[in-house]
Amino acid sequence: MVKPFVYYYPLDLAEPEQCQVQAYLKRLERLLAVPPVERHCSIGRLPSSAEKGVLAALQETDLGIRAMKVAEAMSCEIGTLATGEANTRLIPRLVVRCPPNHPLAQTCLKVYPDARWGLASCKVLAVVYDEGELALWHEVLHLLGAKDCYSPQNSGPTCEHPQCIMQYEPKVCEVQGKLPICPKNIERIRRELSQITD
Ligand SMILES: [Zn+2]
Ligand SMILES: [Zn+2]
Repeated sequence: MVKPFVYYYPLDLAEPEQCQVQAYLKRLERLLAVPPVERHCSIGRLPSSAEKGVLAALQETDLGIRAMKVAEAMSCEIGTLATGEANTRLIPRLVVRCPPNHPLAQTCLKVYPDARWGLASCKVLAVVYDEGELALWHEVLHLLGAKDCYSPQNSGPTCEHPQCIMQYEPKVCEVQGKLPICPKNIERIRRELSQITD
């Protein structure tokens, strides 16, 4: 079995919410596998044996240092993934879903008050505190190399796609069974995922 590239960690969430997060991510996995992205990306729950190390890394309040510590914890607890280049290794990504009033969410909002739903740092760690599917998908796609498609000044769209999920406050998860995302981000995600070899 292929090792997951993205791990999710439901932090202080009730059981029904944990199931919902899992269902959201399974759906994203299925949508990534079909056009337009058409890439396999395995998303799995963080093993409980890794929780202690990851939790310790998440205590760091400086967001840059936090992402670095999470990267260290992930490579130490999970191990790395082989990549196309013989001597390079990929660190598995982590998305943490926590309640909106959680201290972890508060530390993100303190630094980035505009990050109303969640935040991705250094392509390794995403923290999502919005309960919706779209916010979760948007941040996970950042972990797969996608970039924002909105202007930081006025939040207006910067790509041509009418419903790109990387725009500000995206409105739909899928359009006729397809992930709504612009060609530039499709390329970025493909490039990122093509690094993984089985
Ligand atoms: Zn974003
Ligand atoms: Zn876009």
